[in-house]
Amino acid sequence: MKKVAIVGCGAYMDSGYGCPGEWRCLKAAALGEGKFEEAAAVVAFVKCECPGRTLAPNTGMAIKLGQIKPDALYLSSCLVNAKPGCPYATAEDMARILEEKTGIPVVLGTHPYS
Ligand code: SF4
Repeated sequence: MKKVAIVGCGAYMDSGYGCPGEWRCLKAAALGEGKFEEAAAVVAFVKCECPGRTLAPNTGMAIKLGQIKPDALYLSSCLVNAKPGCPYATAEDMARILEEKTGIPVVLGTHPYS
């Protein structure tokens, strides 16, 4: 089974409305729905914190401490599809930085649920 790490938007998760990371990404990974082409094991879940400067090191630390290298990193749907969007970086910029720092491919988006 493919191993994945998910990155969520902490500003959205902390609002407590809709999804503080409690089920949507996890359901999509478990069932292989949305951007997951098959059922996947979530081996890390990282919360981005504004302004996002700690995202790459925190993701790297989660991978290091978990001792399981993910096959792919997923930026959550709440991060990628945010309206209004992140004021600090685009999802594409975040993906590029994460790919450069970790060497792991990044997928934009996770679940298809509203
Ligand atoms: S930096 Fe952007 S993506 Fe990260 S928590 Fe803040 S608003 Fe969300």
